[in-house]
Amino acid sequence: MSASVIDFVATEARFGAHNYEPIGVVLSRGEGVWVWDTEGNRYLDCLSAYSAVSQGHCHPKILAAMVEQAHRLTLTSRAFHNDQLAPFYEEIAALTGSHKVLPMNSGAEAVESAIKSVRKWGYEVKGVPDGHAEIIVCANNFHGRTLGIVGFSTDPDTRAHFGPFAPGFKIIPFGDAAALAEAITPNTVAFLVEPIQGEAGVILPPAGYFSEVRELCTTNNVMLVLDEIQTGLGRTGKLLAEQHEGIEADVTLLGKALSGGFYPVSAVLSNNDVLGTLRPGQHGSTFGGNPLACAVARAALRVLTEEGMIENAARQGARFLEGLKDIRANTIREVRGRGLMLAVELHPEAGRARRYCEALQAKGILAKDTHEQTIRIAPPLVITSDQVDWALERLASTLTQDFS
Ligand SMILES: *Cc1c(COP(=O)(O)O)cnc(C)c1O
Repeated sequence: MSASVIDFVATEARFGAHNYEPIGVVLSRGEGVWVWDTEGNRYLDCLSAYSAVSQGHCHPKILAAMVEQAHRLTLTSRAFHNDQLAPFYEEIAALTGSHKVLPMNSGAEAVESAIKSVRKWGYEVKGVPDGHAEIIVCANNFHGRTLGIVGFSTDPDTRAHFGPFAPGFKIIPFGDAAALAEAITPNTVAFLVEPIQGEAGVILPPAGYFSEVRELCTTNNVMLVLDEIQTGLGRTGKLLAEQHEGIEADVTLLGKALSGGFYPVSAVLSNNDVLGTLRPGQHGSTFGGNPLACAVARAALRVLTEEGMIENAARQGARFLEGLKDIRANTIREVRGRGLMLAVELHPEAGRARRYCEALQAKGILAKDTHEQTIRIAPPLVITSDQVDWALERLASTLTQDFS
């Protein structure tokens, strides 16, 4: 690392809370699938800010919409109407087939908002006795970092010394429909689940799991809440990951790519009366639904469909997955994923995934390890075949390298 890079890293360490452990690269510019560091080295971004920059870095049309709106009006609060919120509602509802929308900012806020809404629905519509609503979640979930959410995490690091936590959550194994059937009681208001567990290491459910889940939720009048903050908006090769399963959630959570990485924008979408239970004064956010966020989200959604990014994710994802499967390296335990949400799980003897990510950085690829043994690969959805092949060459040479 050069002097200036060491400076940035040291200053961060000196002043910043040490709640991240970044790879040693200091980025200063991005365009499409590429990012550049302060020294001018170019990297293929295989993380896409955890899928927030699915549309590619600094997409010119989203940028133009943001700049144009920033010149006109940025924030009104919801005390007044603004001329971007209604068209945002209309466009996202048309795209996803939902009936109601609640705009928020971060993904965690969308999750919190959904939890509040399904509880309220449980008391006011389903008839659960006040204070007794139960929400079922899955082991190894990741739904964000707020206190409400980390309380039902099963990751010790995520929870340790942050309690006491809110009651009302039941944890079952992911991918086990029988466990869901057993966990449901008359007080169950919702099942909150990721279509593919991203942070857990890109864990896909067994085939048929979600159709069973859908049926159990319908039969028992339990709201199925799909957290599509990471899987949604084309990442898996369909607009929503639920489409792979042939089901529809009652409540869908979007975030991350909803702004193409320009701005925190999230949303709770529902196709029933869950959001209808919220009355004035019962929930809100100063920035939620602001005109700048809405203009950015509208452009981010438009380019996703207009520029064929979802189809491209399916096509390039298949090419990438096949290429990864063709790599003959005894470091690899399993390769998995859907669309451009991919992961390479290493054998325990291969050493920590972090080392491989550092080796990839030296070859011009930025990827992030998760859970010690897994390298996650999630480039922007605008990646081309040539770029996929370029990445595969470097992944192959890195994964066949012997580090021990
Ligand atoms: C990233 C993520 C969140 C949290 O989003 P933030 O914007 O970081 O609060 C929630 N759920 C899933 C599945 C995510 O990947």
